Amino acid sequence: MIEQNILKVRDSIREACKAAQRAPDEVQLLAVSKKHPAQAIREAFESGQRFFAENYCQEALDKQQALSDLDIEWHFIGPIQSNKTRSLATHFDWIHSLDRLKIATRLNDQRPEDMPPLNVLIQYNVDQESQKAGADLTEITELTESIVQLPKLKLRGLMAIPDPEQNPEISFAKVAQVFKTLQKRYDSIDTLSMGMSNDLAPAIANGATMVRIGTAIFGQRT
Ligand SMILES: *Cc1c(COP(=O)(O)O)cnc(C)c1O
Repeated sequence: MIEQNILKVRDSIREACKAAQRAPDEVQLLAVSKKHPAQAIREAFESGQRFFAENYCQEALDKQQALSDLDIEWHFIGPIQSNKTRSLATHFDWIHSLDRLKIATRLNDQRPEDMPPLNVLIQYNVDQESQKAGADLTEITELTESIVQLPKLKLRGLMAIPDPEQNPEISFAKVAQVFKTLQKRYDSIDTLSMGMSNDLAPAIANGATMVRIGTAIFGQRT
């Protein structure tokens, strides 16, 4: 089932790329495995999927331990508490949900010396939802200036989750605009993480380079 789902999602990505006149290899599939067991991740891995994302630190560490024999690239996409930064800096390759300097500084200081710089995306709260994590436009400008000074972090781009009440096309276009501005200013920026199971096509049409897909691969979460 998981294998077929992955094939279907890859087809949808290919179609969306074609419709947007983009090359299919411009968009990377990130499998969001939160609330699904390690065994489901193993199955997805055996179907050729290498990049996985988790939202909860402890849940992720438990699964990483159970899957330590697999060469998985781990992404963290959930809200970040400051008492979790050491675990995140040690056990992840990417962080998508960076939204404040205090956390960036801690991740930089706690990234082990013998590991490559931690890839980070700034989460952009594009629709200004008060209950949602993420930085606003002014904060993003300040944050990027600071993050590029931190040697153990590598600023790769932006992540966004639009307000489901809004037209996703409009939200994604706004994110793309900010992304393009950042790209002009910083050489390291190449990643735009947006699009989930229900809005993958409009995200790709607006320039997403990484889509985060959970339900369409693993089924409903309980
Ligand atoms: C859960 C989650 C996803 C995956 O959502 P689906 O609708 O299940 O594809 C993507 N991004 C973030 C930040 C999430 O928390």
